[in-house]
Amino acid sequence: MTDTLQRIAIVGAGIMGRGIAQTALAAGQEVALCDVSEAALDNAREAIDGGLQRLDDKGRLEAGTAEAVLARLAVTTRLADLADAPVIIEAAPESPELKEGIFRELDTVAPEAILASNTSSLSLTRLADVTGRPERVVGMHFFNPVPVMPLVEVIRARQTADHVVETVEALARALGKTPVRIGDSPGFAVNRILIPMINEAAFVVEEGVATAEAVDDAMRLGANHPIGPLALADMVGIDVVVAVMKILQDGLDEAKYQPCPLLRRLMDEGHLGRKTGRGFCEYPAEGG
Ligand code: NAD
Repeated sequence: MTDTLQRIAIVGAGIMGRGIAQTALAAGQEVALCDVSEAALDNAREAIDGGLQRLDDKGRLEAGTAEAVLARLAVTTRLADLADAPVIIEAAPESPELKEGIFRELDTVAPEAILASNTSSLSLTRLADVTGRPERVVGMHFFNPVPVMPLVEVIRARQTADHVVETVEALARALGKTPVRIGDSPGFAVNRILIPMINEAAFVVEEGVATAEAVDDAMRLGANHPIGPLALADMVGIDVVVAVMKILQDGLDEAKYQPCPLLRRLMDEGHLGRKTGRGFCEYPAEGG
């Protein structure tokens, strides 16, 4: 294993950061995890511990026992503590100002590292420009839940060097993932294809062509999708679907990316899907 594949650092200990951390630990790496919130770091450690224990119980933890694996996790609230890692993956909230601030600081405190962002929608080319080493900025777009989902979209900014793309592809493989190269364009590939499909499914319901249940049955049975598009919308969050449609609309400037009014209505009524207990379907046990 090269040095690059032995240690990584992660900024942001939320859903994605902790998922990436758990995956890297299980793959045998040392992980430094940074967050501004001590509570987020505590929660992340607990969640990662639980995830590793479950893998251990199933005999699927090849990198050691859960306890020994967790011992390779270091947590910190200071970005400067990440300086030693060859690759730093940023998984902070989806705000351009916030991410640009983090990249500017990392540019100073970690001059050698490759800086990767897990952004779902922001331009890597613009993010690279705030640093003094734009050729070493790249996108690594993981999917939720990270320990389960096999894909990493590797997003190449206009400035990204070939060796940087190759290094993060090797890193993705070392984490047990499959990297796929995608250009720096709104929604990248998966969200640009998947979210408009969900939007179209909502139009089919809105126009009274079929019920939500019928749409989901049709797509499962007729297109062999494991889950119908509207059940998927509930899982992703109706607010997230609308937000991605707006990003596609703004970035690609085409009328076909107009969010379906039915999605907006559900959102305005607070029916965001599983997380609120209701979206296209009802989830009485899960929501508030
Ligand atoms: P989250 O809100 O669960 O976690 C973000 C974490 O970042 C929080 O713990 C927060 O305390 C921390 N944070 C805030 N400011 C910080 C700073 N300055 N320095 C360090 N940490 C800071 O968010 P998430 O869902 O994990 O998403 C993170 C990124 O991953 C976003 O860019 C998002 O678009 C992307 N993403 C999310 C998903 C998903 O399904 N949730 C999927 C793919 C990509």
